Amino acid sequence: MQLADIDRLIAGRGYRFTFPSEIEAAYDAHRARFRQRLSNALLLPTLLCYNVFLFVDYLLLPGTFWLSAALHFFVVSPLIVFSAFALRKENDPRKRDYYVALGPIAIVAQILFIYALNHTSEAAQHCQYLAIVVLIFMNVLLRLEYDQALVTSCFGFALYVGTLFATGAPLPVLTIGVMAAGAALYLSLSANRQMQRDARHGFLRAMQDKLRVDQAQTEAELDVLTGLYNRRRLDAVFGDLEATTSHLPVAVLMVDVDHFKRFNDENGHLAGDACLKRVANALLGKVRKDQDLVVRFGGEEFLVFLVNMLPENALMIGEELRAEIEALRIFHADGKTPITVSIGVMSDRISRGAQESLIAGADAALYSAKQAGRNQIWPPCAERRSDELAEGLESDEREGVRDAIKNLQALGDKMANVAVV
Ligand code: GH3
Ligand code: MG
Ligand code: MG
Repeated sequence: MQLADIDRLIAGRGYRFTFPSEIEAAYDAHRARFRQRLSNALLLPTLLCYNVFLFVDYLLLPGTFWLSAALHFFVVSPLIVFSAFALRKENDPRKRDYYVALGPIAIVAQILFIYALNHTSEAAQHCQYLAIVVLIFMNVLLRLEYDQALVTSCFGFALYVGTLFATGAPLPVLTIGVMAAGAALYLSLSANRQMQRDARHGFLRAMQDKLRVDQAQTEAELDVLTGLYNRRRLDAVFGDLEATTSHLPVAVLMVDVDHFKRFNDENGHLAGDACLKRVANALLGKVRKDQDLVVRFGGEEFLVFLVNMLPENALMIGEELRAEIEALRIFHADGKTPITVSIGVMSDRISRGAQESLIAGADAALYSAKQAGRNQIWPPCAERRSDELAEGLESDEREGVRDAIKNLQALGDKMANVAVV
């Protein structure tokens, strides 16, 4: 999902009630958490407010007070508590909302039942209006999703109007009741609709903000000229690896273009830039895309970080890289001397602080490669064999290496090189 796609969703009219399925799933997860928090926050106030209304029964409908109290305490209140707990385990968003609606619908039913028992009393004819307040509470405070709010409102309305008709409510009560319930539902459903729109809108905005931050972070980790990652990404990868793994064999290859200043002086800076891009591409083409990292370390220096790599294999890859660059046949001004690279290799097991020692070691090896005449890797042969690395490794540490390799899967995203642009 790109920023522009989200812009389109916000600008379009279709976002009010549904998103494309991938966003809908994320919104639903966000909504489930929100619903949970809201339910927790409203549980006690709902129980308290509802049961305070027993005072109305006590004052106006004493004949059914104890029945009403029994319904309050043994039927409706437990239902409200049940719905609050049931929705925690429910994955289906629609069912979650119906659980939420269970409480207010039960309250409405209780009010109408007591009214029905007392329908000839004038006091009861006033009391039944309270059911309308409960429907407003359901649509506005409980924040049902609009579709579910509509369904339960229609049900509540039918229950209300049906009871008035069934009990033969006097015309003024029937007229005011139906008109007031209709108006209350219209207003509260409109408010619900707007809140839903705002909630979805806000969710898209938050998604957009997160995308912008991710994008800015990725851009900050990219080298503009070559499209490779820069040292920021290297630090992040090392940070993650050092924190999550140990004992894993890794290697750092420091790659430096030979006599590049001369190439620049003779061919110009733009040709130099083009050369660096081709070298970057060639390095990238030779490593494992999902595990290794190629970064532009400095001007004409690249660092190749090979993870889960034994020293002799690192040297082999180093040699392949060296040969690959030579085979690019990017010639100096004389038309026959190709651009070459010198490579310093340092292998070790990953541990805290490994980044510094690996880079320093590779740097020192690179210096030796330059001293030895350039266009070569250093050390020149597999001096440090994997046995050396394994030496002294207890069996549980070997197990640790195996776990570390599994952990790498989780780092896959970070290690994946970006395509060169
Ligand atoms: P050596 O074989 O010892 O590495 O010699 P060198 O000439 O490659 O090394 P030196 O450090 O003397 O020169 C590096 C040159 O790389 C100098 C600089 O102009 C050039 N350079 C660094 N960054 C860039 C860049 O982004 N584009 C271009 N075109 N040149 C660059
Ligand atoms: Mg150089
Ligand atoms: Mg250099």
